[in-house]
Amino acid sequence: MPVAQPNIANQLPKEEVLEKIQLLHRLQRGYFAEDHTQAVSFRKEQLRKLQQVLKQHEQELFDALYADFRKPALEAFGTEIGFIELELKLALKNIEDWTKPRKVLESLINFPAKSYVYPQPYGVALIISPWNYPLNLLFAPLIGAMAAGNCAILKPSEIAANTAAIVKRIISQNFDERYIAVVEGGVETTQHLLAQRFDYIFFTGSTQVGKVIMKAAAEHLTPVTLELGGKSPAIVDMDADLEMAARRICWGKFLNAGQTCVAPDYVLVQEDVKEELIQQMAKSIRDFYGEQPANSPDFARIINDRHFERLSKMLTPENIRIGGKTDVESRYIAPTVLEISTWDHPAMQEEIFGPILPVISFNDLNEAITMVNRHEKPLALYFFSTNKTQQQRILREVTFGGGCINDTLSHLANPNLPFGGVGSSGLGSYHGIASFDVFSHQKSILDRGTWLDLPFRYPPYGNKLKLLRRFFNWL
Ligand code: NAD
Repeated sequence: MPVAQPNIANQLPKEEVLEKIQLLHRLQRGYFAEDHTQAVSFRKEQLRKLQQVLKQHEQELFDALYADFRKPALEAFGTEIGFIELELKLALKNIEDWTKPRKVLESLINFPAKSYVYPQPYGVALIISPWNYPLNLLFAPLIGAMAAGNCAILKPSEIAANTAAIVKRIISQNFDERYIAVVEGGVETTQHLLAQRFDYIFFTGSTQVGKVIMKAAAEHLTPVTLELGGKSPAIVDMDADLEMAARRICWGKFLNAGQTCVAPDYVLVQEDVKEELIQQMAKSIRDFYGEQPANSPDFARIINDRHFERLSKMLTPENIRIGGKTDVESRYIAPTVLEISTWDHPAMQEEIFGPILPVISFNDLNEAITMVNRHEKPLALYFFSTNKTQQQRILREVTFGGGCINDTLSHLANPNLPFGGVGSSGLGSYHGIASFDVFSHQKSILDRGTWLDLPFRYPPYGNKLKLLRRFFNWL
């Protein structure tokens, strides 16, 4: 099993960390300015290299994810390594199209001319990622940055330390640090990074730290993408297929032991079907993990002691309907369902980010919509109902990043759907072509013909205003 390597923040005195960061940043700026990264052939070659490197080190990456939080191999592949492979394949297949200037309709005002949008890399990007999907959330944005022709400095989370150490090693062994580099470290190292003038900052993490990032970016007016968190509801109405709803909610919630930004954070269920839903959830949990989930190889552990303690406080015995068992040694928290009646419960005060699922009932859908809308805009929302009218009401009346009707999480599996939050759950989106777009400045170009130059727009204006009005009315 791999052991976490000390990160550069531990290895070097503070001043040296800063100097190293400044040097890297300078090197990448120089490399970008020398125009090494823009040729499509270079981008493809580097994306292919990333593909090979990830393949070559796949087992080590599986092991690191297991060492960090016992992530089951199937989950590690489906949500991390396999996911990245699909994004790589898509980028490699479409990069020629993506990089082409996109023609837009011409405006008669400018006759004769043609207009197009020319995607251009920003330059040097900073990508900061969290610990919960430490490969996916680092490499998926990186693929966009590379496809768009940028250089990038990656800052993995220090919390998934085994994975961060391997990422650092395989990137530094295979890529020129003037092009892609990994800087390991925690808050202080990130602050040193944020003090540099980047051309783009792509951050995934908590809403609280998102505000820190945006403030730092404002200093240099650096554009940002913020992929943040929050409390994502699953709403189950009386017309839902309850057995399927329970199965799909439990899968989305207990994958990665609930440590997923888009996991259903809590369930709102119509009172009449609450009991049946809870019974079905108990059955799903048994089907997935057996009578003793602690012995299941398919259930991950909590990432560290701090999160274990934070989550344990939510396990109020009087509310536990399913699960509730914990083991401090292995940082195990059983898949747990709580039945609660108010939002005052500790589990409703923050994003849960663990295998604890509170269930609250409502009487009619208005009540559920009001409850969700009273709080911050969620990253995801999952609505379980076969009633089309109610489905449309949810889409129209609730603002959220994205989500599913009659499923959880699966919207992330379609690269044609841009993924991102809204309000306090995020700013901007990525995946598929959206990842390319996010790391490209969309430069608008008007290419004016030279064979005609009507004198109309030039002073002296005389009485041209009347004519101009007529022309505008005619357009
Ligand atoms: P976090 O915000 O604590 O950390 C994210 C990154 O920011 C890490 O690399 C960390 O080193 C750095 N960081 C932490 N504090 C900082 C500070 N004060 N200044 C500068 N940098 C700082 O998040 P986390 O605990 O790693 O991840 C969990 C959160 O991320 C949850 O809220 C979850 O919902 C969210 N998340 C969102 C998505 C998404 O795609 N929207 C995906 C995964 C996780």
